[in-house]
Amino acid sequence: MSNSSPAREGAKRDIAPIVFCDFDGTVTPLDVTDQILTQLAHPSWREIEREWMLGLIGSRECLERQIALVDAPPEELHAVIDSITIDPHFSAFCRFTRRRRMPLYIVSDGFDYVIHRVLKRAGVAGAFRNGSRLFASALRVEGHRLLPSFPHSAEPCEHGCATCKAAIIRHHSEGRQPIVFVGDGMSDRFAVEVADLAFAKRRLLAHCRESGIACHPFETFKDVQGTLEKLLAPTPARRCRQPVAALS
Ligand SMILES: [Mg+2]
Ligand SMILES: [Zn+2]
Repeated sequence: MSNSSPAREGAKRDIAPIVFCDFDGTVTPLDVTDQILTQLAHPSWREIEREWMLGLIGSRECLERQIALVDAPPEELHAVIDSITIDPHFSAFCRFTRRRRMPLYIVSDGFDYVIHRVLKRAGVAGAFRNGSRLFASALRVEGHRLLPSFPHSAEPCEHGCATCKAAIIRHHSEGRQPIVFVGDGMSDRFAVEVADLAFAKRRLLAHCRESGIACHPFETFKDVQGTLEKLLAPTPARRCRQPVAALS
């Protein structure tokens, strides 16, 4: 990718990458926050969504204003969250990253409370916990109200992100490990610019194509794992012909 100098690619050649992964629409087929808003918030949340889509506000302001429109008891919130499924290949992908000693970090504008509950219910919490981390917005449930906070954007970034994926990735790029990013949406557009290797679907794929950003299209984590297995194969019999960073 554009930010990778030949020297940097060479230095990173044989080192296991860090995998950064979006959550909503990537690990889950549906956007969980959108589901919560659709079912539990005043319909005016869609007007705020339009402002964000037009680039008039950042995702942090967007989420703060939208989540304030939710008025529902915790049982209803839990029922919406518990209706969310995940990519059936994500659990195997978590085990794959652990086997290959690749740190797996979820980076999300969505809420920690929600993500933990989805992963736990899908039986992936254990697979994800080992060596993995979650960078997401925080959520406190108080009666019928949801109170958001943004621990990973203490300093508002230039994009107005709720969780600045680009800043988190940049922070981790200071090491020698190549950065892999997996995502699906417009909240990932700054992240792909600082990754060495990007996997994209839906809106993010369209954005990468329009902007000339190199990426691998994918549908499920089986595709991501298959591509990484080809690029990273470390055994002497199957030497990695093209190092991961060189293909990014
Ligand atoms: Mg997404
Ligand atoms: Zn940002």
